[in-house]
Amino acid sequence: MHRDSKIYVAGGQSLIGAALLGELESQGYGNLLGKYTEGLDLTDPSQVDAYFATTKPEYVFLAAGKSGGIEANRKYPADLMRDNLLTGCHILHSAFQHRVKKLLYLASSCSYPKHCPQPMKEEYLLTGLLEPTNEAYALAKIAGIKLCQAYRRQYGAPFLCGIPGNTFGPGDDFSGDDSHVIPGLIRRMHEAKQKKAPSFLIWGTGAPRREFIFSRDLAEACILVMNEYDEAEPINLGMGSDISIAELAMLLKEIIGFRGEISFDSSRPDGMPVKILDSGKLRNLNWKPRTSFRKALEETYQSFLRSEEKQDRGARTEIKLLTADRRPRPAEGRARTGDRRP
Ligand code: GDP
Repeated sequence: MHRDSKIYVAGGQSLIGAALLGELESQGYGNLLGKYTEGLDLTDPSQVDAYFATTKPEYVFLAAGKSGGIEANRKYPADLMRDNLLTGCHILHSAFQHRVKKLLYLASSCSYPKHCPQPMKEEYLLTGLLEPTNEAYALAKIAGIKLCQAYRRQYGAPFLCGIPGNTFGPGDDFSGDDSHVIPGLIRRMHEAKQKKAPSFLIWGTGAPRREFIFSRDLAEACILVMNEYDEAEPINLGMGSDISIAELAMLLKEIIGFRGEISFDSSRPDGMPVKILDSGKLRNLNWKPRTSFRKALEETYQSFLRSEEKQDRGARTEIKLLTADRRPRPAEGRARTGDRRP
């Protein structure tokens, strides 16, 4: 990519998409598309095609498609699968039709089998059954990978696939129930601290191990891959260290300042027992994460606090407006009384 290349980030409002737009901008790429496309329905092929026809992007990062944590995957498998199948399918086809120079499709580490040897190498994809809690979403992501490879094989399309670890960062979905583990724990533990709760319940046994990657570091890795990688085989995008959910909770407890006990709700599912990527290929491109895990968690917590403050301020303004509305204004009062006369 050149600094003036036209670059489209599909899913620019998602955690990864927003981080990509921010990182591209800070590296001096100035011709970016995807920041203000809320009205564009990526599940509608005619809208996607019209967008490509009018904007003519040269490079595409495909970070679109709904995603969520273990509970969202349990509740909305159809929505997640459909959204990812359709957005993947339409964007890849339009990118092919409008001859983009290169496209990077972002899949997910849950595309690997449930009992995959660890760390997971790219060639282990499709060597075993998937984890049932995220099978629908994972199948859509695998279909995306296979579709990229099919366009490459049949038409020589310059499509790449990246497989990121569990991504987190500022601007994450902190909704609590449907979010991934880091933003979910941040919200729930922060609320427990505010209530001075004596204990805090973590979902599952706390034993599963996960590899996480900070969204800004991932964005940097994606830009490097777009510039330096050109193979049909996917490339893992992980930071190279892992942690158990129980250890993660202890770290967050320190950062958030929660003083109660931590206990485990083993009636909730654990999901995949271990999910760690072998990112040797990415290391060979001379990439390593810039941000320490602790610093990344602290930054994410700060972003949560800012979003809460913003919401509080919004709610206070709304209350003020409502109160002001109810105060009788003399002219209006008279007019209303007058209106009621027969
Ligand atoms: P996964 O990596 O695809 O399994 O998805 P998640 O990021 O949602 O969950 C990772 C692990 O964290 C699972 O073992 C969950 O049971 C566990 N976990 C513990 N507490 C929470 C929580 O508050 N939210 C979420 N999403 N997961 C949690």
